[in-house]
Amino acid sequence: MACRDTIVAIATPPGRGGIAVLRISGDQAFAVGRAIAGAALPPRRVQVVDFKDGDGSTIDRGIAVCFRAPRSYTGEDVLELHGHGSPMAMNRLLDRACGLGARLARPGEFTERAFLNDKIDLAQAEAVADLIDSSTRQAARSAMRSLAGEFSRRVLDIDRMAMDLRVHVEAAIDFADEEIDFLADPDIAANIATIEGELADVIEQSRRGQVLRDGLNVVIAGAPNVGKSSLLNRLLAEDRAIVTEVPGTTRDLLSADLEIDGVAVRLTDTAGLRLSGDRVEAIGVERARGAVAKADLVLLVEDASGTRASTEDAAAGQLDVPSERRLRVRNKIDLSGETPGRGGAGEVRVSALTGAGLDALRQAISTAAGVGPAEGAYLARKRHLEALAAAADHVGEAGRRIAEGFGDLAAEELRHAHRRLGDIVGATSSEDLLGEIFRSFCIGK
Ligand code: GDP
Repeated sequence: MACRDTIVAIATPPGRGGIAVLRISGDQAFAVGRAIAGAALPPRRVQVVDFKDGDGSTIDRGIAVCFRAPRSYTGEDVLELHGHGSPMAMNRLLDRACGLGARLARPGEFTERAFLNDKIDLAQAEAVADLIDSSTRQAARSAMRSLAGEFSRRVLDIDRMAMDLRVHVEAAIDFADEEIDFLADPDIAANIATIEGELADVIEQSRRGQVLRDGLNVVIAGAPNVGKSSLLNRLLAEDRAIVTEVPGTTRDLLSADLEIDGVAVRLTDTAGLRLSGDRVEAIGVERARGAVAKADLVLLVEDASGTRASTEDAAAGQLDVPSERRLRVRNKIDLSGETPGRGGAGEVRVSALTGAGLDALRQAISTAAGVGPAEGAYLARKRHLEALAAAADHVGEAGRRIAEGFGDLAAEELRHAHRRLGDIVGATSSEDLLGEIFRSFCIGK
């Protein structure tokens, strides 16, 4: 383990609270603890102590816990001081720790050290941040699964399969002159298919996790007066789990955050961005188009009452949104007498006025956006998805090369796949391939 300086930070959020925690990590952590507590602190024992300042005065009375390296969060000696949640006292304690040789930690530095000291891998380190940042229950659960290493294990399992396959393929190249046609072995093709299937599965679970993490961007579009704002307000008013309202939108509320089925949804109303052929409003239309282009899902609202000028609805129709990202919402069915709920495919009938059909709309939003049950989802990040997709491409390419009899090219593709999967967990991708071949094949026979 590299020798690193001792870092300190108040680990709890700023402000007053019941308790606050000062965390110290590094070689000097125990010495700092001894100086502040006035006695040596035995590891993994909770002690009630007076936290002493340099002049002997008591800063606070609280709990001290030590964790000896490597059995700690960071893998280094760690001291935690739990005091009363007084910003004044905690700052004094922080100053005291700095006076004793610790330095202020950078953001994320404790977790960075945990990664550098092999306590957690990169995906787990990211999951720590994702768990802290998660804004819905499902996101928190998925982050926890990644943090517990489920995602990493899955990725490493696939990586191991790809590496085993590579060993086979490399061996086939070495034995080519002995006419052992390893490459034609049906097991190899089967293994490729298995790896591809596993990757597809992880990608699917990660995609769902990404929606949980990043939330859904839903845009409400449609002609003026079809009830877009009413619909937004209705969804907000009925939703008891409003996370935040977007700042700076006091009167002309254009966007709002809410939670649907445990997924954070940002709902953007294009009201005010009128969709019409009028040149003056061309900019508004452009902006609406921009919002629509970036949306995960577009609610195309139309007026079911039949009193709308069809040209305006047609203007809304100009927004070309692929059908899988589009949901037709027939609003004002209290006037038309239509039954609320799902219409045909991709259509929901609602009344923003009475609230009829709103549950069906919520459900349609989550299903149309591909939000399945959160069970099994990994709170993956974009870089994970990119790495997984790249690995899948390389494995697919390896399969084609094997079929063509190009073992060396296939091995190269598998090497790339290994590197991309290694990127996810932050593993170094260099290893001794020959060593692997010797270990799994009895070459000396
Ligand atoms: P926007 O321009 O698309 O945002 O439409 P608004 O939300 O401002 O609604 C236009 C008008 O339609 C308002 O007078 C609303 O009260 C009315 N409205 C909206 N939704 C409904 C509905 O479901 N039923 C009825 N009867 N009126 C509605």
